[in-house]
Amino acid sequence: MATWYGWWSAVVRWLHWAPDVICMSRGEHSATHTTGDDLRSAQAIMATMDSCTQCDFSYDTLGVEEAPAALRFLGSAYRTRLAPGLQNVEHERVLRRRPEPQVWSALEYACHFRDVVLAQRERLYLALVEDTPRLASIYRDQRVIFARYSDDRIEDVAREVDMATGLLARAFARLDGGQWQRQCIYGYPAPMQRSIAWLARHTVHEGRHHLQDIDTGISAARSALSSGAATWPHQPR
Ligand SMILES: [Zn+2]
Repeated sequence: MATWYGWWSAVVRWLHWAPDVICMSRGEHSATHTTGDDLRSAQAIMATMDSCTQCDFSYDTLGVEEAPAALRFLGSAYRTRLAPGLQNVEHERVLRRRPEPQVWSALEYACHFRDVVLAQRERLYLALVEDTPRLASIYRDQRVIFARYSDDRIEDVAREVDMATGLLARAFARLDGGQWQRQCIYGYPAPMQRSIAWLARHTVHEGRHHLQDIDTGISAARSALSSGAATWPHQPR
């Protein structure tokens, strides 16, 4: 798992909010055990969620009107990273190899981003209809195992990421000013009220951040495989 995910997960556990974060089924798990102090603490911590020092993404620098193009670019970028694995067995091994047992492979990161984007589209429409809905978790860690990301075909994932980002880009492009300000309770890394505009920026951040994770993973996998490491592929946790 990426370092920033691990760090935020630790923060969430420290706040004793893990049940809220992983059990965000809307309506079934209300935040009755989340106190006002908890929320204020989380809001203070989450203020830093509007930028990321690891990938240098700043939420304020992305206008919502730029989100569709940014997503389409990300779809193309992911496809470019995966494409060499379509024709080259060695590169496919690189894409499928986990740099570390607990760090996702490039393929798994691409699958994760695909599923995030698909989820964001559903969350968007939910927030347009309902007032401040509490968004369900995608259970990202469990999903890697249950959906068997590591068994996915490179060709399929490349096409699916491109399709998912295109769909969400189109959805964002059709929003008006009032719709961008619709609110929801976003569960990651801790439950907090967010606008659809923030959701769009956060999705772009996810894509850029994990693209960096993919590049780092590809580099590490190449080095490991060229040095004769034979532990491919790492089995999911
Ligand atoms: Zn980042």
